[in-house]
Amino acid sequence: MKLLFFLICTSLSVFADTDLTHAPPSFSADGKKAVFVDFKRAEYKITYDAENGYAKSVSTIEFYMPEAGYPIFDSVTKPTQITLNKKLTSEKLISTPDKASVVRRIETPLERGLHTMMIWTPLENGTRFNLRRKKWGHVSSGFFIRDLTDRKFLEQYVPSNYEYDTYQMEFDVKVIGTKRWHSFFANGEITKINENHYRVTMPQWYRSSSVYLHLVPINRFVRWYLDYPSIDGRKIPVTIYSNYNFYNRYVKTKAWATLKELEADYGPYPHDQLIIYGTGLRGGMEHAGATETSIISLGHELQHMYFAKNIHPVNGNSGWLDEAIASWRDKGHQTYQKPFYESVNLANHGAYTRKTDKRSYEYGRSFMAYLDHLLKESGKPGLKDFLRHYFQKRQRTGVTTEDFKSDLEDYANMSFGEDFHQYIYGGKEENSHLKHNHQKSFENPHHPQLTDEEFESLI
Ligand SMILES: [Zn+2]
Repeated sequence: MKLLFFLICTSLSVFADTDLTHAPPSFSADGKKAVFVDFKRAEYKITYDAENGYAKSVSTIEFYMPEAGYPIFDSVTKPTQITLNKKLTSEKLISTPDKASVVRRIETPLERGLHTMMIWTPLENGTRFNLRRKKWGHVSSGFFIRDLTDRKFLEQYVPSNYEYDTYQMEFDVKVIGTKRWHSFFANGEITKINENHYRVTMPQWYRSSSVYLHLVPINRFVRWYLDYPSIDGRKIPVTIYSNYNFYNRYVKTKAWATLKELEADYGPYPHDQLIIYGTGLRGGMEHAGATETSIISLGHELQHMYFAKNIHPVNGNSGWLDEAIASWRDKGHQTYQKPFYESVNLANHGAYTRKTDKRSYEYGRSFMAYLDHLLKESGKPGLKDFLRHYFQKRQRTGVTTEDFKSDLEDYANMSFGEDFHQYIYGGKEENSHLKHNHQKSFENPHHPQLTDEEFESLI
């Protein structure tokens, strides 16, 4: 009996420890069952060869397979070699059942349990070499994410998983074949081994949408290393870098003012560091405790340090929350008696959707303004007060739209079922075809679609 009890407890703890609660369902493709897995640990060894102009990564990933079948991972770049439990295997690119995305499936069947895969991939995206001077070549490489387009998280650069999965990541980053030194910015704990070799350990709660890495020749940017005095007494290391001193000065002034506002609203800044890469381009993008951004979008991105990159969405159906909350702040925390629209689907796309609906800013902001009204009408202080509670409860975790809704209902002691059904799940959309069209005009100034040239210029 005791043994049975022990066995039950151990198997329960295996499940309690997994992120699979939010994984999309397994599915069959050409007769083989593709299974979403739980990454436990990944070590990424990345080598940039500045003499020959190529980069590659070797990824060692330990994962838990929850049922028998064929494991899923993703890498935009096709792997050149894969081993599974030290045996050579292969992978296949397959569509998800709803055609919302594609993933890579390993072609060896596995039993439930822990396994290890090693994946060799060229690193092509986000990487630029300058080889003009022999022995003095250099490389720039930026792991920057985007969330309005499919497959633009970490899988653009190295093998990773869907956003539901948190796992321990380590990056070993090396530049060879040059005498030129390189600097390295990353949102984890960095160990410098030498001027061209760095290791970084990321916090355990990071996922594919959290990571920020930027490798550049040492003289590329003007950097400032500062401390931000948090309201909780911590001195938070802040790295600001851009092309100009005056730009860093603007960034610092605006960042300090915004952090003060956010700490007063939601509590102490929730990361161990802050990296701000001040770009000359429109818009920006948030990562966990790091952002590449214009001055204009800086406030928006810093708010994402709480909502989006501390509390993370677990899938494409939850991403609207962050843009709705950040846009609600952008427009000055408005209160509306009703949303400006009848019904829209922001959170009811297929289970395999990874990207955020582009209409989340305008529609979501309007919905947040409406929630503020409903809360105030019921005698509560308003949405900001709720968000503070929500943040304190959920920090460093992943959330779904339903989590947000149920927290809101607990807080207000009232039901929001009808409101979410109509305004967020598109329950009253006349024509369901509409939900996939007309997204182009909803571009937000803080996250504009950059051209390839513009994106390249960031790196
Ligand atoms: Zn945003």
